[in-house]
Amino acid sequence: TEDILQVRGLSTRFFTQEGQVNAVSDLDLTIERGEVFGIVGESGSGKSVTARSIMDLIEPPGEITEGEIRYRNADFAETVGDDHPGAVDGEFVNLLELPPAIRQSLRGTSFSMIFQDPESSFNPTLTVGEQLAEAVEVQRRASARPRSTRARTESEEYSLGSLMLSTVLPSKKYVSDESRERAIELLELVGIPDPVERADEYPHEYSGGMLQRAMIAQALAGEPDILVADEPTTALDVTIQAQVLDLLDDLQKETGMTILLITHNLGVIARMCDRVGVMYAGEIVERGSLTDTFDEHVHPYTEGLLGSVPDLEGANRRLQPIPGNVPTLLDHEMEDRCHFADRCPKAMEDCLDHPPEFDADERGDHEVRCVLAERDYDEGRALPPDYFDETE
Ligand code: SF4
Ligand code: MG
Repeated sequence: TEDILQVRGLSTRFFTQEGQVNAVSDLDLTIERGEVFGIVGESGSGKSVTARSIMDLIEPPGEITEGEIRYRNADFAETVGDDHPGAVDGEFVNLLELPPAIRQSLRGTSFSMIFQDPESSFNPTLTVGEQLAEAVEVQRRASARPRSTRARTESEEYSLGSLMLSTVLPSKKYVSDESRERAIELLELVGIPDPVERADEYPHEYSGGMLQRAMIAQALAGEPDILVADEPTTALDVTIQAQVLDLLDDLQKETGMTILLITHNLGVIARMCDRVGVMYAGEIVERGSLTDTFDEHVHPYTEGLLGSVPDLEGANRRLQPIPGNVPTLLDHEMEDRCHFADRCPKAMEDCLDHPPEFDADERGDHEVRCVLAERDYDEGRALPPDYFDETE
C-alpha cells in the first residue's frame, strides 16, 4: 500500500469575537490508498473541521494557519509541475500551496464529501437526475483539460476557475443523453429502485435514506480518489443506517476508493474502518489499527470513550459519556499542559509540564499522545482528585 494523503502539522483556527479558537492544532494524519480511516471523538473535538480543512471548505473567520496537506496523484503532480511551490517529492502536491481555482477543481473529482444532511447537497428546484448529470459533467470537463499543459500561468488558472464556476450554475435540463444515462447508472449503483423514474423526481420526493444514497451517488459521479464522509448515517434510523453502511462498504470494495470517515458512533467505526484516529480538543491523541485503538488503547481518553464497549457488533453504539467538557479551545484559555488533564482519571504532575508529544514519523504503528505511552501510571505522582477544582 502507499500513502494517498499526508496531513502534516495542520492547524485550523477561527478568529472570533471571543478570541482565537484553535479548532485543529498541529494535526498529523496519514491515509493509505484504499483504506477506510476513521476519526472518532466527541462533538467539538475538531473532527468536522479536519474534514472541511482537507476539503478546502474552511471559510472566514476560519483559516488554515499552518501545515501541509499532501495529496498523491502522479498525473495531477505532473500537471502542477515540479517547480511549483506546491510540488512535494514527485507524486505529491501540497494542496495548501495551490491557487484556489486549481484546488477547487479537485473537489468532486479527486475529493468528494458526504454529509449528515443530504438536503444540503441538493437544489430543491432541480430533479435528482439533473443534478447527478451535472456532477457527471463536472468530472467530464475536468478530465478533458489537457494534462500536458502545466496549469501554472495566471491566465490558465483563471480559465480553469471560470470553467468550474460555470459548472455549478443550475441547468434546467440534462446537458447530454450520455450524462443522463450515467446519472441513472449512478442511482442504480447506490441501490435506488426504479432509477429511470426516480431520476425525474425532485429531492423532496425521496425518503431520508434514499436521498442519502442519492448524495453518495452524487459524490461518486466524479470518481473521486478520496471520499470524506462526515457522520454519513447519524440522521438515519438504525435499519437504514445499516443499509447505507453496507452500501459504502460495497462501493469501497468495488471502486477501491479511500474513505475518511468521521463519526462519533463506535459501531460505525468498528464495522467500517481499517485504522482509527481518536480526536480530542483539536488533536489526534491516539491512532492505530482497529485492534490498537479498541483493545490495546493506552490513552485515558480512548479508554474512557471505547474502553467499556462490550461488543462492537451493534451498529448504533454511542460514545461513553466522560465527566467534564471538551475545552473551548480559546487561545488564551489553552494551557501548556495535556489538554485532557482536567478530565483525566490518571493525571499526574508530569502531565502539567507541557502537552505530550506525538511521534508522527513512525507511521503505521500504534501512536499515543500521553505520558503513559512512555511509562506506567504507578511511576508518576498522581494529582490530588480535587486539583483542578482548586485551580479553576
Ligand atoms: Fe492523562 Fe497525563 Fe495522559 Fe494527559 S498525559 S491523558 S493527563 S495521563
Ligand atoms: Mg461534526
